[in-house]
Amino acid sequence: MSDSVTQLNNIWDLTLKNINEQLLTQSDGQRVFDSFFGGSKLVKVNGDTMVISVSSPLATTILDRKYRSMISSTIDELTGTHFELKFIAKDDLDKEQKEIVEEPKFFKDCKLNPKYTFENFVTGPSNREAYQAAVMVANTPGQLYNPLLLHSDSGLGKTHLLHAIGNGIVEKYPNCKVLYISASDFVDEYIKFATTYKEDQSLVQFFKNDVDAFLIDDIQFIIGKKKTMEMFFVVFSTLGQRGKQIVITSDQDPSKLEGLDDRLRTRFTQGLVLSIDKPDLETSKQILRSKIEAGGLDVNDFDEDVITYIAQGFSSNVRELEGALNRLLFYSINTKSTSKVTMNEATAAIKTLSATVNTSKRLTEEKIIAGVADYYSLTPSQLTGKIRTSRIAMARHIAMYLDRLLLDTPFMKIGETFGGKDHATVMNGVKKVENSLKTDPDMLIAIAELKKKLS
Ligand code: ADP
Ligand code: MG
Repeated sequence: MSDSVTQLNNIWDLTLKNINEQLLTQSDGQRVFDSFFGGSKLVKVNGDTMVISVSSPLATTILDRKYRSMISSTIDELTGTHFELKFIAKDDLDKEQKEIVEEPKFFKDCKLNPKYTFENFVTGPSNREAYQAAVMVANTPGQLYNPLLLHSDSGLGKTHLLHAIGNGIVEKYPNCKVLYISASDFVDEYIKFATTYKEDQSLVQFFKNDVDAFLIDDIQFIIGKKKTMEMFFVVFSTLGQRGKQIVITSDQDPSKLEGLDDRLRTRFTQGLVLSIDKPDLETSKQILRSKIEAGGLDVNDFDEDVITYIAQGFSSNVRELEGALNRLLFYSINTKSTSKVTMNEATAAIKTLSATVNTSKRLTEEKIIAGVADYYSLTPSQLTGKIRTSRIAMARHIAMYLDRLLLDTPFMKIGETFGGKDHATVMNGVKKVENSLKTDPDMLIAIAELKKKLS
């Protein structure tokens, strides 16, 4: 028999109706029916056993002792089959079901990337301190710098070093349980967790038992997420008390992270805070050489001028430096006449690259404002001005939201752009949009269309 919920309900409804009629022949029949059968439910059929939940332990006893045979024969008649009956009080059933809820598995997709190691990290004056601290932490986790916080602009090696620390720890201490997670994944995981499990306890328990080193990337993404920040604080304290290593990266000095919970800010700065700067020319060239070799090519096949030329052009971001090199490799494979990569090829390859980097395609705050204004038939100055009719205010919040989402602009800066608002006002505006995205399909459509339009 299939025990789909409606089928169970149907069987039980018929049974109750039938029993009610039988009981009405007794003088106190209706009272008995209401007291002991009221709120009862057929919850499942296990083989030839029916499990029936009832309103109280007393009802369990009464049905079991006095009405079992009446119920049983009614059901047998209705279904043409014999079933054993099991009565269980509703509260006990709830407890039983809670116990069989699957054990939560946390962060199971968070893996260290073996590609990022200390060996393939090129050091120079811009990143040496960060590198050395990272190596120390990997060798003696939880002992020297705790937490270690590394910050820099994008593309300067924070994520690389974070994975290198994790890989280093695991290599030296194979039993050490390392958890790497980006803060935005942490936010997602926490929201998922909080909607599935009511209590935070099991998550805290997980950190107590299953994490010896916690590596959290791009911490700026927990900002503005109040609940997550609270949880993060608890996790932080839990690990701290146990002397577990914590390493954090951030796109800014923690003292400049607007909207960060002050207790967290204090914690973050208790250990060692180091920045990574843009590599100087020599380091950039060295990085290029190491990437060329990592790609199985011979550095000697590249004119020295070529290396210098690319290093000069892209040293503010190693990710872009790698991009430029890849572009050159692609270009020279396709056009190669001689065996050496020369300036001719480099300039030609990079010219097309810079063309794509610098064209007007790059999104800016101005473009977001113009795009949103256009979408709502407003002028840009209405968006950045002070008028607060609900329509303009909503469009303004949407523009702020997109500014934050697409450009990662700091709240303070957004406030300046929108006519000198403070960062709390901006955060509120952004939050309003985030909230209505959860409930308002119109907002969802507007944001999707705007994103498409701006991309
Ligand atoms: P961030 O996390 O700071 O934005 P990443 O760690 O993702 O930067 O670095 C971007 C890319 O540049 C990665 O592929 C990384 O391996 C490379 N990279 C950055 N710094 C170095 C370095 N000093 N030596 C070798 N590769 C580097
Ligand atoms: Mg990173």
